[in-house]
Amino acid sequence: MKILVPVKRVVDPNIKARVKADGTGVETANLKMAINPFCEIAVEQAVRMKEEGGVDEIVVVSIGVTQCTETIRTALAMGADRGILVETTLEMQPLAVAKILKLIAEKEKPDLVIVGKQAIDDDCNQTGQMLSALLGWPQATFVSKIAVAGDHADITREVDGGLEKLTVKLPAVMTTDLRLNEPRYVTLPNIMKSKKKPLENVKADTLGIDIAPRLTTLNVKEPPQRGAGVKLADVAELVNKLKNEAKVI
Ligand code: AMP
Repeated sequence: MKILVPVKRVVDPNIKARVKADGTGVETANLKMAINPFCEIAVEQAVRMKEEGGVDEIVVVSIGVTQCTETIRTALAMGADRGILVETTLEMQPLAVAKILKLIAEKEKPDLVIVGKQAIDDDCNQTGQMLSALLGWPQATFVSKIAVAGDHADITREVDGGLEKLTVKLPAVMTTDLRLNEPRYVTLPNIMKSKKKPLENVKADTLGIDIAPRLTTLNVKEPPQRGAGVKLADVAELVNKLKNEAKVI
């Protein structure tokens, strides 16, 4: 069994993002970047499935600037076997990413594509769904449990009212929920070992597909500053304020 895991390079989630002075987007220059947390969960899932047996190869792919090789190396250090960088300096939006991933899936023929449920920079939550539609493969989004059995997988999905259990035929596209697993720490020896793992470089403009951005960002603003809080003496004062000042009860 082969698993394909797309991994996105994003601003490190532990860093406070700042809006660019001209309001055209979020400042990324000189910021610490990291693997998107939901992609990290996807890699962890693939590695655990390989450790349990039945998975022969885990291929990770990242689409973007040259520095995405660092994101791929992180996934290789976690236990993935091989990396593909699809290099471009264009802004990558979900449809373009899904089109590129479709080409790679057709070439690599994985049994499973495990995608993050969303990238924490654009919060789109679209790529996995678009990829499944373009490939014509079944999809299972927001999965918190995957059990492969022969030509299908029994999965549990996180939905509003609780958990949903589904069976999907393979090959399929799945998107990871937070509760799927807790990713392992990457150790220094594994980082060193990952440098010897194969990493292929493909230029996006040689793929012959239209990946031009379709969406235009009009303006990005910081959220309004929150005012300071106040300390109240007791519940009676709180109720009074809610009633007479905030007028919410
Ligand atoms: P999104 O639809 O943008 O919220 O992204 C959902 C998931 O799609 C991510 O967690 C990744 O698994 C995948 N993805 C999105 N953009 C890229 C990219 N540039 N390179 C590789 N994978 C990506």
